[in-house]
Amino acid sequence: MSDEFCVICGRTDLALTDGLCPDCFADRTPLVWIEGHPTITLCPTCGARKVGQHWEREGASPTLLSAEDLTPLLSVHPEVGIRKAAWTEGVGDPAQRRFLGEVRLRFRGTERTVSVELPVRVQSATCSACSRRSGHYYTALIQVRGTSERLRGPPRALRDRLERAFDTVLTNTKAEWRRAFSWREERPEGWDYYLTDTLAARSVARLARSRLGAELKESATLWGRRNGRDVYRVTFCLRVPDAAVPPVREGGGRQVPIRVGRQP
Ligand SMILES: [Zn+2]
Ligand SMILES: [Zn+2]
Repeated sequence: MSDEFCVICGRTDLALTDGLCPDCFADRTPLVWIEGHPTITLCPTCGARKVGQHWEREGASPTLLSAEDLTPLLSVHPEVGIRKAAWTEGVGDPAQRRFLGEVRLRFRGTERTVSVELPVRVQSATCSACSRRSGHYYTALIQVRGTSERLRGPPRALRDRLERAFDTVLTNTKAEWRRAFSWREERPEGWDYYLTDTLAARSVARLARSRLGAELKESATLWGRRNGRDVYRVTFCLRVPDAAVPPVREGGGRQVPIRVGRQP
């Protein structure tokens, strides 16, 4: 131990910087603060947060702000490491909300808790995924069909079986893939699922192929141009064997041409 001591409190048992122990230095230097006027932009429909030009965390609460939203708004001294921050909401209004944070942090070998007040402006904006959905935009179509081109039995029974089979696949996929599903339409010969993400559609279709032993055909059609590039719509046709779903009663039926959905 050196014979140097803190010029404020006189302690000798802690490392000194510019003559001050970490405690006395921390008392005189802001360790955590708020820069400017933080704003959080979120989608009122799905809860996604806007980060730069992108939307993240779709499915988060559209009303509650959590540590995941608030803690990143803190500015910290370069030698500070935040351990955790606990937030409680104070009295504010919907557009300008106030939070009180108890920030547990590490600074120069010691831990301490600092209180900070955080005003946050909250803005609502419809995220890109929700605006695409509301415009019935899609890039991929998954057709879920029986094995036969011909309808065997009532369309309703077929649809029920196909729906149950496809649902067992869907419930086990990544949330990110499920969110790509925009809407679906019934067809006499099965279901058409419309998706806003072709890669997610391909992943789901391939998973269904292996889980249900289905046959999968992929085809693309030029749909138009967007931002100077050709845009294709990809159709994944899944033919689900009867073994994957409960049996259907044999009966009359007729072949119905596949009508690919149009933009409503
Ligand atoms: Zn001191
Ligand atoms: Zn949204």
